[in-house]
Amino acid sequence: MIVPREAAPGEGRVALVPETVGRLTASGFEIVVERGAGAVAGFSDEEYTEAGATLREPAALLEGAEVIVRVARPSADEVAAIAPGTVLIGFLAPLTDTEGIERLRRQGVVAFAMESVPRISRAQSMDALSSQANVAGYKAVLIAADRVPKLFPMLMTAAGTIAPARVLIMGAGVAGLQAIATARRLGAVVSAFDVRPAVKEQVESLGARFLELGVHGEETEGGYAKELTPEQQAAQQAALEERLPDFDVVITTALIPGRPAPRLIPASAVSNMRPGSCIVDLAAEAGGNCELTQPGNEIVREGVTIVGFTNLPSQMAFHASQLYSRNIVALLQHLAPGGELALDFDDEITAGACVSGKPEVAAQPVVAQPDVAGETEEESA
Ligand code: NAD
Repeated sequence: MIVPREAAPGEGRVALVPETVGRLTASGFEIVVERGAGAVAGFSDEEYTEAGATLREPAALLEGAEVIVRVARPSADEVAAIAPGTVLIGFLAPLTDTEGIERLRRQGVVAFAMESVPRISRAQSMDALSSQANVAGYKAVLIAADRVPKLFPMLMTAAGTIAPARVLIMGAGVAGLQAIATARRLGAVVSAFDVRPAVKEQVESLGARFLELGVHGEETEGGYAKELTPEQQAAQQAALEERLPDFDVVITTALIPGRPAPRLIPASAVSNMRPGSCIVDLAAEAGGNCELTQPGNEIVREGVTIVGFTNLPSQMAFHASQLYSRNIVALLQHLAPGGELALDFDDEITAGACVSGKPEVAAQPVVAQPDVAGETEEESA
């Protein structure tokens, strides 16, 4: 199995860390790591070799590769170097990068996208969207705390009392809930809202107030939000515009899988915010929840700082990589128990995560199977 050094701009994470290399080699995997692969995240080549990995230079990296594990999707050149039949695992953006997936398909790569691992309880340990969203939610709050010219906690000093910062979290999924918890730990007074009605209780259990905007959306079977109608969106924006001036910090995390991010904060709402306040837009990569967000950049408009960084987990590359690599190990143990690939495309996780190179199921007549009634095929949770 090969672990390349990530080459995408700004990507500091690595797909396996020495801890997980050690676990995998102990369970029968042979691991080859590109020299310097963990350097940005804080893992040295020596740590990888001590864990049982072999180091290679980039030129010979993919020789004999059976499985490649990585974080970000490969470039066209990287795909061209992959031999047909090789298994590739990583964040491959299957819902938005159709061209990239088609390229993998043409190359004959058997690709598993971490985004496509079904969100079922059996696959929770493989859920890299959640592990990375946790890191992003945490980091977003730290960035905001750094930008605003205010303290987060209430402070009682000889010079009098300072009121705590007021923080609003928009979208209370995995990243949003972590942002609530982090802002609370720093002592801020936190409010949050989401369109999924089920979230109110989770928000309140973290000690935040649920902001009622009068807009309720629906939830898909997988627990994701459904896109609001244009009328609902307009109502949400109008209700928000009135409330935004109350907050020093706004962290936005609202996403609809495979769709542009819902527009929650129009430019006009930003001009109503107090100078010195800060928006951290975690939906920047999908276009942003704020109209003024510039993906990848930080800007100041009418005194309001708007942070649109697109890869916050990479800024916490050590722990983000550690969590991600544990997700990868869980998936690998599923796809290759005992170190040998055994892809069962009848399995919901294997079939769900596979975005290229899945064998076509030939249309076959259904034949009654004798003696199957007593068979138990229970899978461990
Ligand atoms: P996400 O990143 O797709 O979206 C983030 C949040 O934005 C969601 O809570 C969504 O409801 C919210 N949102 C969308 N449009 C909005 C709007 N117009 N206004 C306000 N909020 C809006 O979602 P996520 O954080 O990856 O996951 C969402 C949910 O999925 C989780 O809270 C959970 O219920 C479920 N989930 C289940 C599992 C599992 O069963 N293994 C794992 C992870 C997540």
